[in-house]
Amino acid sequence: MLSEVLNRVSQGLIAVSESDLVLYFNDAANAVSSDIFNEQLVIGLEIPEVRRRTSAGSIKYLLSMSRTGGEEVRAFMETQNKYGTDLYFEIVAAPFKTERRDLTNVLLLMITDVTENKVFEHKLLSQAEYIRTLFETANTMIFGLDMRGYVTQWNRQAANITGYSRDEVYARRVREFLFDDESLGLFECYLQRILDGESVPGLEISIRSRDQKIHHLLASVTPRLSTNKVPIDVTIIGQDITELTNYRSSLETMVKLRTRELQRALTKEQEALEIRSRFVSIASHEFRVPLNSIAHTGSVLTKNVEFMAADDVRNHLNDITRNANHMSVLLDDVLDYGKKDQAKIKLVKTEVNFNEFLESIFEDVRRSAANTHKIEATLPSLEFKLSIDTKLMRSIVTNLLSNAIKFSPDKEKVYVEVRLELGQLSLSVKDDGIGIPMEEQSQIFEPFTRGKEAMEISGTGLGLSIVKKSVELMEGTLLLESEPGKGSCFTVVIPFQPIHV
Ligand code: ADP
Repeated sequence: MLSEVLNRVSQGLIAVSESDLVLYFNDAANAVSSDIFNEQLVIGLEIPEVRRRTSAGSIKYLLSMSRTGGEEVRAFMETQNKYGTDLYFEIVAAPFKTERRDLTNVLLLMITDVTENKVFEHKLLSQAEYIRTLFETANTMIFGLDMRGYVTQWNRQAANITGYSRDEVYARRVREFLFDDESLGLFECYLQRILDGESVPGLEISIRSRDQKIHHLLASVTPRLSTNKVPIDVTIIGQDITELTNYRSSLETMVKLRTRELQRALTKEQEALEIRSRFVSIASHEFRVPLNSIAHTGSVLTKNVEFMAADDVRNHLNDITRNANHMSVLLDDVLDYGKKDQAKIKLVKTEVNFNEFLESIFEDVRRSAANTHKIEATLPSLEFKLSIDTKLMRSIVTNLLSNAIKFSPDKEKVYVEVRLELGQLSLSVKDDGIGIPMEEQSQIFEPFTRGKEAMEISGTGLGLSIVKKSVELMEGTLLLESEPGKGSCFTVVIPFQPIHV
């Protein structure tokens, strides 16, 4: 009855006498005996030796250990079955505690097949080894932190990037050496969101290496939870993207630069388009009117010349000449502007007696304005010579004076004042004419731009842009003071070295 019960037990049981003779074995022991022992188990014969020795020694050694110590002794044993499969057994030798005197020194061997556990353990171990190698040899920085921020793991790449060896960082807090305040704040905030269970995409953080270099990491953080879901520590995997980040920012700078260049080109293009359209509208008005007049007068003359009095013919011819002259002046403006608009013009300086030079310009202007206005000039009493580009200076003074006369039609005088002070020459041209509204004052220096009030008076809108360019070429400045209805004053200031006559 007892032996029937013992035969149902899955554990192999063998009773061994004081002199290592087999006293009893159950079915389970019999079933595994060929995998474990060199020979058959036979009752009354000595217990056979194991096929392979355990690390703790032989079966007999195990028995003698248990016998001497009077307690359980445990050993693991690896064998191979006849098919070559590795098997693992746990063998426990224990004193057989009983009241029966004849059994006092009997030992019980308990044999358990632990192959499955062992295989599982091997798998776990090799997986752990695999993970360890992966962790160590990964080309990303991997480090672990406990919940107080102390370093618990530090792989080779972490040491490579930061310059701190594992021994140096273990049991140190990352905030002490790896982050500066700003990136630490960012990192801790990110960490908190992850611990709160949020799913957060990778974070870009900056760390400072031992040599004070900043490295940019694309980091992902994985917390490890205890069985009751409390975070124990976190593992941070950080890809060093410093080069990429630098590359990205240099690309961004390049894009910004290119965009600015493009914008500039675009603005220029727009300006050019605007100038063109302004030119078309000015040209169509300013050139068409005199041209129509010439064509009309011409055709009147052609049809009626035989019947006309000589004076009438002369008047008509004068009209044609006047209109043609007017067109020629307009055309000169356009050509002059075109020339100055081209690549940088070189200054051609000559020495002139400035007062005489101005007088000659006044003379020209008066003549072409049909002496409608008196030019009242206040010039330095001391005659002096000046080395200047006379062409540019002439075009400045002529344009300003013609405008002053043109835009003060019902006045009799315009004023010129020249002052010399602190290495500068200032020349003002003033009139008491129609003046310029504030909102137009910044625009009128653009080519082909004319004031609203000026539309009644002929012009191309080029004069002031020519003046502005000429003044710039002479490295001077151009100032304007004006009030509608009261008049305008344009002042040119240029650097100068006087040469006294
Ligand atoms: P234009 O005289 O051919 O119109 P400008 O470039 O010389 O071209 O002048 C541009 C505009 O500036 C004029 O149309 C006019 O509105 C204004 N302007 C220039 N000079 C004067 C002035 N002395 N008084 C009033 N308005 C002026």
